[in-house]
Amino acid sequence: MATRPIWAEISRQRLLENYRLLRRLAGAADLLAIVKANAYGHGILPCAGTLCTEEARMWMGVTGVQEGVALRATAPRARILVMGGVWKQEAAAAIAHRLTTVVWDSSHIDWLQTAVGARRPAAASRPTVSVPIHLEIDTGMSRQGVRLDALPALLERLVASPGLRVDGVMTHLHSPESLDGRATAEQFGQFRTALDLIAAHGHHPVWIHAGNSATVLTEGSAKALIDLAAQYSANAMLRPGLALYGYAPRFSGAGLSLAGFSASGFSGAALLSGVHLLQPVLSWRTRIVSLCTIAPGETAGYCATFRAARPSRLALLPAGYADGLNRRLSNRGSVLVRGQRAPIAGRISMDLTTIDVTDIPGVEIGDEVTLIGEQGRERITAYDHADWADTIPYEILCNIAARVPRVMKD
Ligand SMILES: *Cc1c(COP(=O)(O)O)cnc(C)c1O
Repeated sequence: MATRPIWAEISRQRLLENYRLLRRLAGAADLLAIVKANAYGHGILPCAGTLCTEEARMWMGVTGVQEGVALRATAPRARILVMGGVWKQEAAAAIAHRLTTVVWDSSHIDWLQTAVGARRPAAASRPTVSVPIHLEIDTGMSRQGVRLDALPALLERLVASPGLRVDGVMTHLHSPESLDGRATAEQFGQFRTALDLIAAHGHHPVWIHAGNSATVLTEGSAKALIDLAAQYSANAMLRPGLALYGYAPRFSGAGLSLAGFSASGFSGAALLSGVHLLQPVLSWRTRIVSLCTIAPGETAGYCATFRAARPSRLALLPAGYADGLNRRLSNRGSVLVRGQRAPIAGRISMDLTTIDVTDIPGVEIGDEVTLIGEQGRERITAYDHADWADTIPYEILCNIAARVPRVMKD
């Protein structure tokens, strides 16, 4: 079915190249590819399908059970981690679809253990299957995860849950893009304490994971994780999301200069030079559907926030904030037409946006317009949108609406 002329192109090639780059940078650590939130708006099934061509048994991280169940059909051999935990009604589906759930609360254990029990006839004396779980430790995010003071009770609760097996232990870093590394060092200190407790309770996790894109792209923190995991004879794993899609988080702090900064342990972290090789995977495009010329003094859009200072040629785009084009780009952002930047003129509407093409000769109805991506020698990125909208590239990418079709390109 034909749609409005607005679409997002997803480059398979770039996704794969970013993944390979991150693998190389991660060194001895494995990667868990974060494909949550519909692969940051890129389309989880095609993106995961592409990544699986690289490694069928790859670890992938999703938001919830529903996303995991959908992914299972595309990635039958992948190891799927449900990072948002499990809810009571979801426990059976999580197990049936071989999803590994992140657990940090005794209610998770109750629900999963009940679901495991329901799968076996009561007569069976010993569990024949054990369901893998990953324990999340809260080392400072105060978001999800078990705090150190609550960990012993949770481990006791696990003793009474023979159907569950601690396959992994994870934590989440709150400031991995701060290159002085101090906060991360503190979090790792707590993580180590938790790992000791877990080992003392007789658990031998196969995977120990932490860190996101920023961690892969810096040296120091990844190395510390690898050393830590080795002490517990586990595999270290890093969890990049944003970088897979071609964007590095914004780093701050000492060590930002790439040259000559060598980190040892956690005294700090240096950016790895590969950062510059990341390539944005998504391009967002539309077409000019209408054109008009307004006279000096005439206005455009709601509340007349754009007033022409000269005879102005305005072009209409079938893209609005309901498509995910952030309304804060009104009178601030620009787009690419015929390889040149055209400013957004007036307020972005729900379904429509007007741009000023007065300085671009020969513009016609049907011309392709780039909202995010390259055109000629110009380029607009999700960073640009994030700056205009005072947010982060994550939010820009995730907010591209479902009604914008994703088109896979090689
Ligand atoms: C989203 C998420 C990540 C990935 O973060 P990026 O900054 O996108 O690399 C890693 N770990 C957890 C637990 C997450 O929720």
